[in-house]
Amino acid sequence: MRKLFIAGNWKMNKDAAEARELAEGIKAEVAGIEDVELAVFPPYLSIAPVVDALKGTNVAVGSQNLFWEESGAFTGEVAGRMVKAAGCDRVIIGHSERRQYFGETDETVSKRLGAALEAGLLPIVCVGETLDEREADATRKVVERQIRGGLAGLTPEQMKPVTIAYEPIWAIGTGKTATPEQAEAVHAFIRGLLGEIFGADVAEATRIQYGGSVKPENVAELMACENIDGGLVGGASLKADSFGKLARLGRD
Ligand code: PEP
Repeated sequence: MRKLFIAGNWKMNKDAAEARELAEGIKAEVAGIEDVELAVFPPYLSIAPVVDALKGTNVAVGSQNLFWEESGAFTGEVAGRMVKAAGCDRVIIGHSERRQYFGETDETVSKRLGAALEAGLLPIVCVGETLDEREADATRKVVERQIRGGLAGLTPEQMKPVTIAYEPIWAIGTGKTATPEQAEAVHAFIRGLLGEIFGADVAEATRIQYGGSVKPENVAELMACENIDGGLVGGASLKADSFGKLARLGRD
């Protein structure tokens, strides 16, 4: 049985003081929730106050990226062990905004993933097609390339801590959600692919989150799908009451 996993990707929002306030609000909203795993991903500079505010709670903290080298002359980058030392236990890798604006490729996703596992972080690896790719009926081809490339070389054992997030790019921040049927079809395809690559046990155990305009109003129907095991949420994770509702799967 896979535990649902709701994660808030704060993107480039919330400075240190704002982030602490949001974390305090979330802490109060989600106190006592045990059946859903929860995590938030603040910008690097806001990680410390959020870790502090959420210490000892049911909400984990992660970073939105990391670099694959351990140290050295890589201006502007942050190593996995630094993320870990800051109190994070997880990391997002290959978000479509990283791919779109910062040149992330399946190869760099694979390198970052290796570094995350080396640092003992729990990674969320993002995949998903553009609108053009969906309209050209290339969704499966694109997602397969991203999965095979991004997870290249991992053993079934190394795959165990990894979560996949399926995020159709046309649904991110646009208000357009994939229908539960559209999302479920791709999730089932991804699980089948994981089975081919890593075997049935890993495929069955791996959580596949959906991301793309998830909000309190649509979270329940998405999470009811057999192969959807959580949500990676941007906009709706930036308010404590809305994150609280997501964590309660839409209930007030
Ligand atoms: C995301 O940040 O991964 C995301 C899915 O954003 P939003 O929920 O705002 O569409």
